[in-house]
Amino acid sequence: MDRLNGEKCRLRIRVAGIVQGVGFRPFVHGLASSLSLVGIVGNNHAGVFIEVEGSAGALEEFLGRLERDAPALAVIEHIEAEQIAPVGEDGFVIVPSQSGGERQTLVSPDTATCDDCLRELFDLADRRFRYPFINCTNCGPRFTIIRDVPYDRPFTTMAGFTMCEACEREYRNPQDRRFHAQPVCCPACGPSLRLLARDGTPIRGDPIDAAAGLLTAGKVVAVKGLGGYHLAVIATSEAAAAALRSRKHREDKPFAVMVRDVDTARALCDVGAEEERVLSTPRRPVVLLRRKPGAQVAPSVAPGNRYLGLILPYTPLHHLLADRLGTPFVLTSGNSSDEPIAYLDDDALERLGHIADAFLTHDRPIHMRTDDSVTRVVGNRERILRRSRGFAPEPAVLPAPLRRPVLACGAELKNTFCVAKDRRAFVSHHIGDLENYETLRAFRQGIEHFTRLFDVHPEVVAHDLHPEYLSTKYAMELVDLDTVAVQHHHAHVAACLAENGETGPVIGVAFDGLGLGTDGSMWGGEFLIADLVSFERVGHLQQLPMPGGAAAVKEPWRMAAVYLDAAFEGQPPSGLGVARSHENLWEQVLRVAHHGTNSPMTSSAGRLFDAIGAIVGVRGRVNYEGQAAVELEQLADPTETSTYRIALDGAEPFRLPGVDLVRAVVGDLQRGTDPRVVAARFHNGLGDAVVEACARVRGSTGLTSVALSGGVFQNVLFTARVSAGLGREGFRVLAHSRFPPNDGGISLGQAVVAGARDDAGML
Ligand code: ZN
Ligand code: ZN
Ligand code: FE
Repeated sequence: MDRLNGEKCRLRIRVAGIVQGVGFRPFVHGLASSLSLVGIVGNNHAGVFIEVEGSAGALEEFLGRLERDAPALAVIEHIEAEQIAPVGEDGFVIVPSQSGGERQTLVSPDTATCDDCLRELFDLADRRFRYPFINCTNCGPRFTIIRDVPYDRPFTTMAGFTMCEACEREYRNPQDRRFHAQPVCCPACGPSLRLLARDGTPIRGDPIDAAAGLLTAGKVVAVKGLGGYHLAVIATSEAAAAALRSRKHREDKPFAVMVRDVDTARALCDVGAEEERVLSTPRRPVVLLRRKPGAQVAPSVAPGNRYLGLILPYTPLHHLLADRLGTPFVLTSGNSSDEPIAYLDDDALERLGHIADAFLTHDRPIHMRTDDSVTRVVGNRERILRRSRGFAPEPAVLPAPLRRPVLACGAELKNTFCVAKDRRAFVSHHIGDLENYETLRAFRQGIEHFTRLFDVHPEVVAHDLHPEYLSTKYAMELVDLDTVAVQHHHAHVAACLAENGETGPVIGVAFDGLGLGTDGSMWGGEFLIADLVSFERVGHLQQLPMPGGAAAVKEPWRMAAVYLDAAFEGQPPSGLGVARSHENLWEQVLRVAHHGTNSPMTSSAGRLFDAIGAIVGVRGRVNYEGQAAVELEQLADPTETSTYRIALDGAEPFRLPGVDLVRAVVGDLQRGTDPRVVAARFHNGLGDAVVEACARVRGSTGLTSVALSGGVFQNVLFTARVSAGLGREGFRVLAHSRFPPNDGGISLGQAVVAGARDDAGML
């Protein structure tokens, strides 16, 4: 630029968003250099700071392209620019990170190996040929290796690896695609792979080849991934899959399967255009896909399931393994039954030693344990069922700024927590069911990590109404903070509002397993008028006793007994299969229910699905919560359009009599109707009743928007019926997409309710 030609200006620019660890500084350097601008760029607590100097025209061009041409993984929330006095330095340089100040920076999620790195991985001439830790500014580990911010190598688990000269050159060269890539490494200086026997002794030979050999021979191999250890077996071997299932004490929950590419996915499942996109995103979730008849997968991989969870390789190690194996393989979390996934090497050897025959492991430590995320595509849109690796810790932007920072502790099952300040809510990765010491420890450590990483000092803590949830007990320990108890189903609806950027009021339909209500009974089939501050319960499913409490969740036949008893006033038709299968305890359970001993009243929709599942003959006992409901959906014939009628009563709050559905189901079964048709009509009947109930609420309130939340809305058939019906009736439907409808979304809902009440001066 000609210095004599026009005046020189200097801008100080701040960029906020996900701008660290995504190649933003090199991008700025390149952009500034190409426009012959001088100045500096660096990371600080708030994101990226820039000073640029040059002609007004070049600066304008710079600002425009800063946003337009930003790197693929960057998420720019806002850019601030102010004019300052020119300095007149010689060139444009990247300066060291500034520490201190209130942290506002964001951390990028872990990102699947990019195409450029993949090409090098399989390029014989490349110095990283077949190196399992290849990465660049556009891909690789992020959230799982960050110990602290700013995102610089000393604050990651790569701190212990000193770069070799060649790597250092790439790292320092602004023209290189590894410029300032923090995890950059190579075979000479980086982590290395090892294959260990279950007793920890090394197995000779190339670790990938040897591991592939063991897998092909039907062995179980533990594989260290980004967020923890997985357990792998060949997906075509029934003996191997069954062995893994029994050693893991996992009876029926389906295993995820890794396939090397989309074509292989197509051989096993139907893959639509949106499903292909979701499978291939750098976030790389497990995607639930409809399996093709005759798909070459052993029965024990996903017993009795119409869907398969498929995932594409997301680390170089996965790519190498998939390439050597040439066949799909199970890749399921490295844990025993309900414990959290193992992520520390010694702990993994100890805990998985009785499951895995060998360990494919390495010496790059994992700092934050994260499971794979699980999504599916419904209505041409991705719907998250479990939000974890690849998504966390990307924040949700709140509809309104918070007055004070909030910690929300979430629910008990599928727990996540959430820390929030200003307009950002950081919902944690999936923590798990808070039922054991290990998971509780992961929960506590996670909260510590998030509050430090995002510099949130909570002044308000939100929790569920249920006093026995370990998350509630944790909140109660924080005696210095203002506490907010948020009713479970209000939190569900608030989460749906928040993710849609709305504040209500809406008609909230919260259908799930169980959550404690304000009247002390267990809710779960709720119609609320809700905004972020408060709610009114305007209707619900008819209440019935849950004989034996928790036992009724594990044994859906108990709910069948209670529903049949109520539907037929103690005289259900004889010869029903479910009654015959459980006749020895049937009367006793009904006596317990009538008596009310250990039989909390519930309006749960999940329990109604359970009861119908047991009556139709799906199963009387379950191995995981909601299994009967999942299988009832699988059974249902999706082409069946006829329905059962439910009569709403005139009470306030109104009641939806589930017994109407039970009578219709029994009637059809006795006429010999195909159970697949009966299951479908039940879905349609309950869905139609929800639509009718919403129409009634609209009649008395004028509200025309409906928010759908709760675990039952993971049921595609039911959700489709409800959404279509509401649409036909002219309602606007708010649903979940980026956060789960199940209890994994509760912490987000709690956070926004706490924030709204704080803002309203209610604390
Ligand atoms: Zn890359
Ligand atoms: Zn190196
Ligand atoms: Fe729930």
